[in-house]
Amino acid sequence: MSAKILEVKYLKKYFPVKKNMFGKDVEFVKAVDGVDFHIEHGEILGLVGESGCGKSTTGRTVLRLLEPTEGKIIFEGQDITHLKKKKLRSVYKHMQLVFQDPFASLNPRKKVGKAIEEVLFVHGMKSEAQRRERVRQLFAMVGLKGEEDKYPHEFSGGQRQRIVIARALAVNPKLIICDEPVSALDVSIQAQIINLLIDLKNRLGLSYLFISHDLRVVKYMSDRVAVMYLGKIVEIAPAEELFKNPAHPYSLALLSSVSGFRTGKNKKRLILEGEVPSPVSPPSGCRFRTRCNYATEQCSEIEPQIKCVGSNHFVSCHLY
Ligand code: SF4
Repeated sequence: MSAKILEVKYLKKYFPVKKNMFGKDVEFVKAVDGVDFHIEHGEILGLVGESGCGKSTTGRTVLRLLEPTEGKIIFEGQDITHLKKKKLRSVYKHMQLVFQDPFASLNPRKKVGKAIEEVLFVHGMKSEAQRRERVRQLFAMVGLKGEEDKYPHEFSGGQRQRIVIARALAVNPKLIICDEPVSALDVSIQAQIINLLIDLKNRLGLSYLFISHDLRVVKYMSDRVAVMYLGKIVEIAPAEELFKNPAHPYSLALLSSVSGFRTGKNKKRLILEGEVPSPVSPPSGCRFRTRCNYATEQCSEIEPQIKCVGSNHFVSCHLY
């Protein structure tokens, strides 16, 4: 068996925003524009970047909640890029999503245990007694033993996120895409949910794509980290290496915005000038050039390719 649970090759997701007089799409938001990465079995890959950089769209496209415009998504050796809905259901047994707003993802009129029983039914567990028992186990697993006969409003935000995690675990997934799973929670609760996710990962051998704008959380959670800017991955490295020796000028600026991460060559706070350019017409050459202090003429003419600059450390920048 390959060590990789997920491989994403040159993934693109464009959203049409303008048609010509013949009704043909002529302008697109290039939300994800040629992204490559992989996740190994049992690994947590963090995906960071400013809001609007394409992180969440990447997660949703990998899950096929959005149709990819181009590229390949390979899950456990199987190309799922163009799988039809019926066949996708068997993939969803192994790949699940936990997202930011736990309240929005729970039906307020349904007891939480019943909602999870429905998921189990859809995935083929026909015996009611088995479903009840599985729900009981899942609630115990996420620290909510005996709470399955309540409605969503009877829980706190952190507890609701535990329920969403229980629901994701119901079908025994191997990979969970966590999209800002703690951003909507109080800081005191965040640590509990993060530790629960790590504990479940270790106990059940899960892999995560962990999407977050919170660098501290990503550093704590991740084995490797990918940095995204305007639809592209600009740097990817083991977490410790990336936070110690960030190489791409954007990663340097991003990390320098958090006081605890200003180390070595990155001691001063670097202020990112200007706005993030429009993903409809991104800059030529390097997309970061309009905000980069090191930009040269070459940067506006040639798009930098991703290069290996150290052990498992890859950067796309003409400085390397
Ligand atoms: Fe800056 Fe040029 Fe590197 Fe882009 S390629 S990050 S503009 S130095």
